[in-house]
Amino acid sequence: MTVLDPHSSLLTSRPGRWALRAARVFDGTTVHEGAAVIVAGDRISGIARSVPTDLALVDLGDRTLLPGLVDCHQHLVFDGSGTLEAQVADRSDADLAERARRAARRALEGGVTTLRDLGDRGYVTLALRDDPALPTMACAGPPITPTQGHCWYLGGECPDRDALVRAVDERAERGCDVVKIMVTGGMMTPTTPMWMSQFAPDDLRLAVDRAHAAGLPVAAHCHGIDGIAEAIDAGVDTIEHCTFLNEAMEPDPDAGLLERLARSGIPISATLGSLPGAPLPPRYDTIASKVRAATVHVLSGGGTIVVGTDAGIDPFRPHDVAPHALEDLETLGLSAERALRAMTRDGADALGLTAKGRLTRGADADLLAVDGDPFTDAAALTRVAGVWKAGVPVVPTEAA
Ligand SMILES: [Zn+2]
Repeated sequence: MTVLDPHSSLLTSRPGRWALRAARVFDGTTVHEGAAVIVAGDRISGIARSVPTDLALVDLGDRTLLPGLVDCHQHLVFDGSGTLEAQVADRSDADLAERARRAARRALEGGVTTLRDLGDRGYVTLALRDDPALPTMACAGPPITPTQGHCWYLGGECPDRDALVRAVDERAERGCDVVKIMVTGGMMTPTTPMWMSQFAPDDLRLAVDRAHAAGLPVAAHCHGIDGIAEAIDAGVDTIEHCTFLNEAMEPDPDAGLLERLARSGIPISATLGSLPGAPLPPRYDTIASKVRAATVHVLSGGGTIVVGTDAGIDPFRPHDVAPHALEDLETLGLSAERALRAMTRDGADALGLTAKGRLTRGADADLLAVDGDPFTDAAALTRVAGVWKAGVPVVPTEAA
């Protein structure tokens, strides 16, 4: 057995079969102590306790190896510098494409090997999907919204029912991976309050059916209770934010809605993860604790949670912020294993990318190594010690 210098050319040219050992290996569901991941080209071959003597081995020592993280909700064209509208105003599509490329690279270097972009402008993110030096990306293009509705300045305005149908068709024709619909208003949109539905339920259902007929899932941005109920009825594929707001801007869902959401199997793509020191909106503690209680209710009824950081929208959510969501998931009462599953395997499954987010035989060899033990110390997940995309190292790794 050869123990490699991780900077060796063998690891930058993708060898045939090799192995990575760490004190802890998380496969997307369970932890294996002192095991090794066997990598074959761009795939995972399996997890083994003993490594065949003919394989090159990198021993990472007291580190934790896990599937690359899955961030289900990013905005690569935003850079967090001001209001959302100001961030894209007076910028050419070429500028935004370059900004998006840098943002995606930052995500990958921070351990996010798969991400979903839920709102660009000019479809600029789609071309980035071919770049092997970036994460695997599922892209929505401009989010669909009514005239002057939430994020209208990204170019997805639909004044009427016909425009809604045309917008879905356009996304299918351009090769988007998902359709993003702004079911309710959102923060920083003066025209529609956050809690209020932006579309008639029939129109929402029409758009969702149209997307599904074209083979595209639908990500539904929902802050209001009514919007969440309408999104469940329409059969969307993920519910973004899911803050359960009523007209008084209070999270106030009834038990029936929470149970229906749990039974629907539609994952909540919860907006979690931000850098320490982020300023909190007024009444944050009260609102956050009510959203948490409602989310816990859904999870206890068998519902699913995945992580969407909304990276890009403000300076406290850079595109590599996802590791900070672990602590937030634990405040929902999730065990570290369950939380890390939400950030890897469950996230990948929510995006329909079942070769991602797991270290099982045949899965893509997208790996993250961190210093220490995130099962006892959530902050360890932010200490990135190595990232591999399709078996190729992304950032320099130090062996133990
Ligand atoms: Zn968003």
